[in-house]
Amino acid sequence: MDTTSAVAAAGPAAVVHTAHAAVLREEGRPLSLEEVELAELADDEVLVQIAGVGVCHTDISAAEGVVPLPLPAVLGHEGAGVVIAVGPRVRSLGVGDHVVLSYDFCGECRNCTTKTPAYCELFAPLNYFGERLDGTVTLRAGEEDIHGNWFGQSSFASLAIADERNAVRVPKDLPLHLLGPLGCGLQTGAGSVMNVLRPDEGDSLAVFGLGAVGLAAVMAGRAVNCGEIIAVDINPARLELARELGATHCIDPTQTSDLVWDVMNLVPNGVDCSFDAVGSNQVIRQALEILRSPGHCVTVGFRGLEHDITIDQGHLLLGRRLTGVIEGDADPRAFLPVLIELYRAGKFPFDRLIETFSLAQINDAIAASTSGAVIKPVIAFR
Ligand SMILES: [Zn+2]
Ligand SMILES: [Zn+2]
Repeated sequence: MDTTSAVAAAGPAAVVHTAHAAVLREEGRPLSLEEVELAELADDEVLVQIAGVGVCHTDISAAEGVVPLPLPAVLGHEGAGVVIAVGPRVRSLGVGDHVVLSYDFCGECRNCTTKTPAYCELFAPLNYFGERLDGTVTLRAGEEDIHGNWFGQSSFASLAIADERNAVRVPKDLPLHLLGPLGCGLQTGAGSVMNVLRPDEGDSLAVFGLGAVGLAAVMAGRAVNCGEIIAVDINPARLELARELGATHCIDPTQTSDLVWDVMNLVPNGVDCSFDAVGSNQVIRQALEILRSPGHCVTVGFRGLEHDITIDQGHLLLGRRLTGVIEGDADPRAFLPVLIELYRAGKFPFDRLIETFSLAQINDAIAASTSGAVIKPVIAFR
């Protein structure tokens, strides 16, 4: 356990948990390593000792100020760890359970009750506002409030408070410190293929952008027996890895004068499905133009809250669909077990994307992600 001490003067019920955390104090500045105190658990909350937490693009966007967030704050939303305490109304989890933390959702709105919690009506306040719905914060440093609750967890810390809802129990025989990215990036890529595009066996799939999200889409395409899987990226090492993970064709767009033409030569009537993890106007247009008629394109690449794109209506009118997706349309309680079974079967080897760092190296981990040197950095606590 981390540093947990009873405060004698406060009586036997009050136990103050302190954690090592990476705190964002100023946009665009390195995270600072600090000791923080965690609040007493609310009724439906659990306290998790973090074993590992992935660095996701959304953390980096928030650290750079692209996602508005009250500061100081603790980021991190791909946590995995062991439950060490539960609130009084928690029923489905107990001390000692291994959990992967995913995004938070209310569980009660129209979208949550129709199995699309990624579009929860309270998604923004539950995941982005840095406080509980009642306005209280979960973290303190001395007399200062620190904003937690980032994606219902703030897991760039040795301890995190999550909700019973967004803590998904996982088997204990798996490498817990590596599982966190299943809760966001990997779920986003694989879920977009398996829950939204839903290719039939033999269907073709094109994936633009081979970070963790895009490579998860490639692995998922292979796992559901797609035919041609076309991987597109400007990084030769990522193209090679995509080939090892299931891509049948690899294209470097800087090495061709007409990517759409190249794809049409590979799949003469166009691809059945395409997936954009880049988010640029040019890539979204290409991902739409290479589709057969009808065909389906999913876009997940996030470029900020205001980001206009221009597409040709003529391309859509051919029965094509363009769908924006959050978190792979996945209910993590149902989907993470699916991904774990694929991993066990050797069909979703996501651990090949991961390099581990210590918490003290978190700014190096972020830099390695930004530069592309590492596909999925994971902060491991040992
Ligand atoms: Zn909801
Ligand atoms: Zn994420």
